[in-house]
Parts: sequence; structure tokens; C-alpha cells
Amino acid sequence: MEEEVKNYVDNFMSALIARNPGEKEFHQAVREVVESLAPYIVENPQLRKSKILERITEPERVVMFRVPWLNDRGEVEINRGYRVQMNSAIGPYKGGIRFHPSVNLSVLKFLAFEQTFKNSLTTLPMGGGKGGSDFNPKNRSDEEVMKFCQSFMTELQRHIGSDTDVPAGDIGVGGREVGYMYGQYKRLRNEFTGTLTGKGLAWGGSPLRPEATGYGTCYFAEAMLATRSESFKGKTVVISGSGNVAQYAVQKTLQLGGKPVTLSDSNGYIHDPEGIDADKLEYIFELKNIFRGRIKEYVERYPKAKYYEGQKPWGVKCDIALPCATQNELDGEAAATLVKNGCICVAEGANMPSTPEAIAVFQNAKLLYAPGKAANAGGVATSGLEMTQNSMRISWTPEEVDAKLHSIMSDIHAACIKYGTEEDGYINYVKGANIAGFIKVANAMLAQGLV
Ligand code: NAP
Repeated sequence: MEEEVKNYVDNFMSALIARNPGEKEFHQAVREVVESLAPYIVENPQLRKSKILERITEPERVVMFRVPWLNDRGEVEINRGYRVQMNSAIGPYKGGIRFHPSVNLSVLKFLAFEQTFKNSLTTLPMGGGKGGSDFNPKNRSDEEVMKFCQSFMTELQRHIGSDTDVPAGDIGVGGREVGYMYGQYKRLRNEFTGTLTGKGLAWGGSPLRPEATGYGTCYFAEAMLATRSESFKGKTVVISGSGNVAQYAVQKTLQLGGKPVTLSDSNGYIHDPEGIDADKLEYIFELKNIFRGRIKEYVERYPKAKYYEGQKPWGVKCDIALPCATQNELDGEAAATLVKNGCICVAEGANMPSTPEAIAVFQNAKLLYAPGKAANAGGVATSGLEMTQNSMRISWTPEEVDAKLHSIMSDIHAACIKYGTEEDGYINYVKGANIAGFIKVANAMLAQGLV
């Protein structure tokens, strides 16, 4: 049986790599899922015969388009736009838009693939998608960002809709960008529908959507810690990134009694041994979201903290680590350092931040380790709640949304325990999330025939 499973994985991956050459992030994300699912597929001939895995790894549709725009100096700039519509078996395509120079088809296919399982885990009716552009919003004026967003949406609008595909934010796309894109969408389509989520509160946004991914990651970590009779209280927490997810992970960590001590960006990280408290977090909100500054400026304001140029925060001794920046930011060596320093829990706010080597280190050490598709699902879950409020034309209170978010994260945790508990009692959250997310989508695909 073990041999058959191994052969199945090897054959599947060679065919996938041959059909999608050079897409290394996509290969990495698929391999992780296929390794978890292979024993299940091999035992279920119906799934194998209907080639569910072959179909689920092939996007239903990919759109690539030119985004021309004029910068402030009057020069023509050309970017490339994308939307990967991965799977609509259980609902309209749903997933964020990323603006970052590293965006390419491989990155977006990996994200759209992960999103399919994540959205299924939330229990809400959402398919999987992801989009974006290689546009870099850093050091651009508001006018340039607006002109880019308008040109991007002028093409994208014909491929999306409230019952077809509902984009949201991701790296480089926050409230400002969603606003510009939604304005252009509305103008071109002449309709006010919930086609984008992450909107402003006054125009269809949901309370708590900005907070949801970071809060949800902490709720998930809290549930993981509870399985070992532990909690955030008094724990030192290392967080990477300093964007949307990281900021609200800091806030919820504080509310749960933990002590966040690091934040980072692509240039380096800051370590504040006294802890990043609520006042310091207010400063970070202002620095990052209004002045769009760099994290190193933190040490000018709080000189007891130190900035480490070109480094990542994983060497700082901690009990809990929350990677909240980007893919492959935590490698095997960093994972070994975390384990050596006594870290007991890693919950991913970012998508695929841990390399396969790092995941192996965590699992061999029997650490509490949760992959992004489970731990950061609170963001898209709250986007799903925004879609519901838009359809019903009502607005829930922050307390109502928070209670729903909390309960969704607990349900995802319970699903991981159900499908991921191993013989020795260790909870393999990767396996649990992959199987639980897969079953619902696979059953829907089987029921809908060969489409
Ligand atoms: P964001 O607000 O744009 O912040 C991204 C942060 O990550 C910034 O601090 C950025 O630093 C850092 N970063 C980006 N690329 C990097 C790189 N190549 N190396 C090192 N640092 C890098 O984005 P976000 O929404 O917080 O997203 C962070 C992660 O969470 C992503 O993996 C995203 O897919 C995932 N996620 C987000 C949501 C959501 O609701 N927003 C939901 C689920 C998952 P710089 O300023 O230097 O670029």
C-alpha cells in the first residue's frame, strides 16, 4: 500500500510538472496536497477513475491581460494582469488580488489552488480564485495607484461579478486599492453589487474584515494551544510582516495576553524586547497605513528596540511564531532554530510561508503547526460574510461578525482534528486541512458530472 501511494504521488507529480513547466510555487503547493490525499485517493477507486485530482489541479479558466497606464511624469507604463479562476464547484470563484513585482502565473496558480481548499474549509459557499499584477505600489503616488487600478479593472470587470467571481485584497491591495477598483467596476457595470470584498464600511464593507485574517489566525492558534492546555497568556510571540495580517495578529495577541516582540518587511525586522503594546501598535497603523513607511522607522521612535537589516525574525526566542508576510519566508534552518529555542506553536497568517523542509522539521518535533489554508481562513470567511450582508442589504455589528468568525475558526480546527489526528494522537493539521477541504469540493465535482 505504501509503495502504491508513493508511486501514485511520483507519477502524478511528474505529469503535473511536465504540463506546467517552471511553475515551482504551484508544484510545491500541489505536492503538499497530493501527499496528504494520495492514501485517500488510492483507497477510493471512484475518485481515481474520475481523475478528480487531475481536474482540481487544472484551472477552470486563466485570464491574462495588458494593463497600460500613464505615470505622474506622463510616461507610459505596461503591467501584466491576471485572474486565475481555479474551481467553482461549491460557489463563485473567490480570492484576493495581489500587486507585487514577484507576481507571476505560478504564484497565482499556487494561491488559487490553496484558496479552493481554504474556502471549502470555511463551510461557506465559495469557489477558489486569485488574481493580481506585477505592479509595485511602493513609492507610487495615490494618483498613480488610482490610474493603475482603473486600467486593471477596465479589463477585469468583464470576467467577474457577484455570482461569478468576487475578488478581495492581498499583498499590496488594501482598502485604498479596493476602493479605486470598486469605483471603476461600478462605473463600467452600472451596478452596486458585492463584487469586491474588503470595501469601506460606508459602502458595503463588513465590520471586522480588515481585522479578520490576523484575528482568525490567533483564534486558530488559541484552539491549537488549548489541545495542550496552553494559551497565549504570558507567551512571547514572534510575528513577521507588518502589513494587514501582521498588524491585526499583533492586536489580537495583545488582547489574548501574549507579548508580540517582532515585525518585519522585505528589508529587515525589528525586535522590541519590551513588547509591542497597544500604543506602539497605533504608531505602526499610522506608519504603515497612512505614511506608507518602512518598519525600520520604528526604532527611531522606540530606541530600545533594534532593527536588523536583511534578516528575518526567526532567531528571536519565542513560544509562538506567526509568519504573516509571504511565501517561503521560513526555511528548514529557521524552523530548526525556532524548535531549538523552545517554540511550541506555529500558525501561518501568510500563505505557504513555511518551506517543505520547515514543515518537516515542525512535524518531526511534534510542534503545533497549522498551514495557512486552515489558520488564515478567517479573512476569506469574513469576505464570505461580507457577500452575505451585501446580498441581504444589511449590516451586522462587529460583535456579530466576530462571533461568527470565532465559530468558523473553531469549526475549521475541529475538522483538522477529525481528519488529521494520527495514531499516536499528534494532530497533523496539514493532512486534516487538506482532506477536510478536499472532500466537499470532490463530492460536488462528482455530483456535477464531467465539467
Ligand atoms: P500586505 O498588507 O501587503 O503586507 C505584506 C507584508 O509582507 C509587508 O510587510 C511586506 O513587506 C511583507 N512582504 C511582502 N513580500 C515580501 C517578500 N517577498 N519578502 C519579505 N517580506 C515581504 O499583505 P497582507 O494582506 O498582510 O498579506 C500577507 C500574507 O497573508 C500574504 O501571504 C497573503 O497572501 C496572506 N493572506 C492575506 C489575507 C488578507 O486578508 N489580507 C488573507 C489570507 C492570507 P514590504 O512592505 O517590504 O513588501
